[in-house]
Amino acid sequence: MIDLRIPVDPLPISEPLVLRLRGNRAESEHDAVLIETADDYREYEYQGFSLTVRAPASADLEGDVLMLLPGKPSAHRLIRANSAHNTFLLTEQCDQLCLMCSQPPKKHHTDLFDQFAIAASLAPARAYLGLSGGEPLLHKSRLFQFLSLMASARPDLRFHVLTNGQHFEEEDVEWLSEIGHDRVLWGIPLYAPEHYLHDQIVGKQGASERLEKSFSILARAGAAIELRTVVMAQNNTMLPALSDHVYFKLPFVRHWALMQLENIGYGRMNWDKCFLDTSTDFQPLSAALNRAISRGIEVSLFNFPLCTLPERFRYLAPSTISDWKRKYLPECDGCSLMSTCGGFFEWYIPDKGFARVGAP
Ligand code: SF4
Repeated sequence: MIDLRIPVDPLPISEPLVLRLRGNRAESEHDAVLIETADDYREYEYQGFSLTVRAPASADLEGDVLMLLPGKPSAHRLIRANSAHNTFLLTEQCDQLCLMCSQPPKKHHTDLFDQFAIAASLAPARAYLGLSGGEPLLHKSRLFQFLSLMASARPDLRFHVLTNGQHFEEEDVEWLSEIGHDRVLWGIPLYAPEHYLHDQIVGKQGASERLEKSFSILARAGAAIELRTVVMAQNNTMLPALSDHVYFKLPFVRHWALMQLENIGYGRMNWDKCFLDTSTDFQPLSAALNRAISRGIEVSLFNFPLCTLPERFRYLAPSTISDWKRKYLPECDGCSLMSTCGGFFEWYIPDKGFARVGAP
């Protein structure tokens, strides 16, 4: 697993500080420039101060964007310049309580949007950044400000915003239209066609109806939507009906991602009652996929190890598990599919997972 924190010698700061590590020269006031390298640390010069980063000489940190917190001996690697998997955790607050949530909500919120704006402004050209939570739209005005700022300061960037879709309002249509469908993709979960089941899964009465209102607002604004459905024991038999629902009721959705469960957070707590072993029980998912494909819906399978899928559906499963939390099993040794397979989450427990895994 790649550690998203990196040890540093604390600086005498009173506010979070965002800076970018550079090997040769500064291109921005936020750049720290390398002045010395040893086996287990590097010394950077930042605005007249010295910053010590504790990392082996082999670690590639060029262009990485760090956030240092007052008094803390480690920094958050907000952006790893050589990775396509960079996500800002905007808030840990949420107004849903999803059965399988990988990032269980917390009450407290620290507003770091200004720091995230600096970080994004230092991202590599044409980067695609994830924005997630918690529920980012609980801080909608700050989020919209951030995205508007980025649209003018860094028009080359694109964003994927993961939201529960509970907070779009009629008055947002104009802003949503202006920000554009090419810059922001809204990732929104829908777990079942029936209100009661979706509400049960997300732990909030009325969530499904509220989602319908948001879909209508987003559709009118021409916003790009990626529908996300975690496949679970709870909604397994409903998947073909959900496929019909997507086709008939949500024709404006750009992409539908059907996802495997992540064994962390509430997902770990509820694993035994939620995990669906799709390596042995694929029939409802297969029916849902066939209906979607035959109707021209762009559909994908996220977080599915390739060998757990019937061969004819493997082309739908890109490698989606972020590099820093991806692993492979001993069974993967010698597998011919490894270069395109996304493997498993770092916290996947084989004894409680797929019955059929192994190099084809
Ligand atoms: S054996 Fe491992 S690498 Fe091969 S398809 Fe299965 S999970 Fe992927």
